[in-house]
Amino acid sequence: MTDAPNPPGDTRAGAAFIGDFLERAGLPYRRIAPQEAMPNLLAATRFTRPGPHLVLNGHIDVFPAGDRARWTHGPLSGAIVDGRLHGLGTVDMKCGTTASIFTYAHLSGLADELRGRLTLTLVSDEETGGRWGSGYLVGHHGDEVLGDCVLNGEPSSPYTIRFGEKAMFWLKLSIRTPGGHSAYPHVSKSANRIAAALIRDLESLEALVPATPEKVARALGGPDVRAGAERGLGVGAAELLQRVTLNIGVMQGGVKVNMLPAACEIEADVRLPVGVDRDDVRRAIERIVARYPEAAASARPPSSRWVAPTAASGARPAPPPTCTAAPPRAWARPTNRSRSTSSSTWCAPTPSPPSTT
Ligand SMILES: [Zn+2]
Repeated sequence: MTDAPNPPGDTRAGAAFIGDFLERAGLPYRRIAPQEAMPNLLAATRFTRPGPHLVLNGHIDVFPAGDRARWTHGPLSGAIVDGRLHGLGTVDMKCGTTASIFTYAHLSGLADELRGRLTLTLVSDEETGGRWGSGYLVGHHGDEVLGDCVLNGEPSSPYTIRFGEKAMFWLKLSIRTPGGHSAYPHVSKSANRIAAALIRDLESLEALVPATPEKVARALGGPDVRAGAERGLGVGAAELLQRVTLNIGVMQGGVKVNMLPAACEIEADVRLPVGVDRDDVRRAIERIVARYPEAAASARPPSSRWVAPTAASGARPAPPPTCTAAPPRAWARPTNRSRSTSSSTWCAPTPSPPSTT
């Protein structure tokens, strides 16, 4: 297996391996590298007869391996044990990316049977946000990579097809107090205590009720869909699909047990389902933070534009579709003549029958 941890994000070995495969298969491709160490690969086939444009998307980078001593099989071993392939990024998403490559290679050879366009996009910056990966391609090569539908093989489960993505709303909070000796709490508030109260207040975001479009509610609410989600992702997964979630991913405060902490930093990841307006969330956060004069917030709000699930063919896919709480990141379908390079817009492979109205 090739190593492509991100951060730092040097994926050249993986990209070269894929490029070699495409060359040997006789499939032309371009290497687009806004960052030299993070090359993206782009291949396109235009069939003779006109038709829709299908885009395949996968990422080459993977999360860092972490503590290698905790790996049962080495992160780059590629060991197959008891019918399971072990290695860093096997699930997220070397298998999915490989499937896209083979799909592209196979379909490209069916020029007489297919119509439209087929594009393969393999990106090298996904795990840290996608700025130099899908975000870059959408922003700089939109005419080539934005199609009628994008299929992405990110891990889900064999029981569902995911047709969307929750929007990510990342938040940083800094709390500052004078600090002091813990024996004299009358001289300063504790930054950590303020952080604890602030986090408790932020939990109220999870109670926001989405205004879910009717088609989406129908697609996500069916018993088969809910069963598929729970079978693949565990009990409780179906409920999460249409709920705001809050994760306090980082919390750092204080330096010593007998000192009043003068600083605490919090990083929160709020995920917004379809139907939650980012401005409502931003305002709710501002109201909460305003209760704590010692706290300051900075946020990276998402673009929460989404397009309604279109019924291109009228066929309902099986297994049933669910919405994902994770990537594919940075895909945006152009709407209202604008294009976004941020996350959370989605395109749907016909999650519900076409409306009659
Ligand atoms: Zn992934």
